[in-house]
Amino acid sequence: MRRIFSYIDHMDVAVIGGSLAGLQAALTLGRARRQVVVFDDGQPRNRPAEHVHNYLGAEDPAPGELLAAGRRQVAAYGVEFRDARVEDVTVDDEGFVVDGISVRAIVLATGLRDELPDVPGVADGWGRSVVACPHCHGWEVRDQPLVQLGMRGAPDRSVARALLLSRWSEDVVLCTDGDELSDAQQDRLAVAGVKVRTERVAKVLAPKVELESGEVLAPARLFVVVRQHQQSDLAEQLGCQVAEGAVVADEGGRTTVPGVYAVGTTAAPALLAIGAAGHASTAAVAVHNDLLELDLGGGW
Ligand SMILES: Cc1cc2nc3c(=O)[nH]c(=O)nc-3n(C[C@H](O)[C@H](O)[C@H](O)COP(=O)(O)OP(=O)(O)OC[C@H]3O[C@@H](n4cnc5c(N)ncnc54)[C@H](O)[C@@H]3O)c2cc1C
Repeated sequence: MRRIFSYIDHMDVAVIGGSLAGLQAALTLGRARRQVVVFDDGQPRNRPAEHVHNYLGAEDPAPGELLAAGRRQVAAYGVEFRDARVEDVTVDDEGFVVDGISVRAIVLATGLRDELPDVPGVADGWGRSVVACPHCHGWEVRDQPLVQLGMRGAPDRSVARALLLSRWSEDVVLCTDGDELSDAQQDRLAVAGVKVRTERVAKVLAPKVELESGEVLAPARLFVVVRQHQQSDLAEQLGCQVAEGAVVADEGGRTTVPGVYAVGTTAAPALLAIGAAGHASTAAVAVHNDLLELDLGGGW
């Protein structure tokens, strides 16, 4: 059961990653009277963006503002914070040890790292004039000229993203950066009204795109296709199964290692911000229920 006094060297849960998913997990667990410590090294994936869009109840705050408000809210429930990167977690008979603190469960909320297309200049505008997600950044440039830069070698994904983007503007150009498209792909793009340029891209002067011919396309915003990777290797260190860039977890965030949970984009890379938080809340309820079984003398 919950201890009356807080012993900072022995707690219920360590949440590793204190962005939207990690903070929401900590909020739900803190309100369930669990003793929680959150570790975070301050690298949320959306940090280059000016605003968080599409988040109910928060009207386009800066990413840092939303997290600061979340931290204040979570701290009110006695959750503790460590502004530090966790490099390793030790497993012992009672659970886990993180930075000298013994815990019964680990919640991994370490998020993702985006690999951008290998084109000079793309990284310079990343998060502002160069973005990936139309649901996050499409509304602000609706009905304006847009370019979708594909990921060379992944034409299926490039086409899918251009088709998606075509619902925000009738003026979308897909630059495949050298990939040729099948007749079926070209037909679908034509039906959606997407124009296609297959020549290589020389460079990006965000958001402008210079083709190898020297021609320059000047969209209001450049959308790119990204590949995503886990930001931390802790899941692998702990022996959790990782597949297609995601930590494998059930609907309660339970990974393949008892006592280790994965929440938000760590487990489901495609989640928008509010989806990551929602996923974490659901998983935190599962963590609490599993700890209840331990409290009652059961096992994982
Ligand atoms: C440029 C950009 C703009 C975006 N804009 C929007 C938007 O407008 N609306 C929207 O809905 N979604 C947006 N997204 C998606 C959104 O960022 C994610 O859905 C959201 O950040 C996922 O939250 P998360 O908590 O799962 O992961 P993250 O936000 O990535 O947080 C992971 C946290 O874990 C920490 N961490 C990682 N490893 C360790 C470790 N070993 N020790 C300690 N801490 C660690 C990191 O520092 C980070 O704080 C955007 C994404 C990008 C890339």
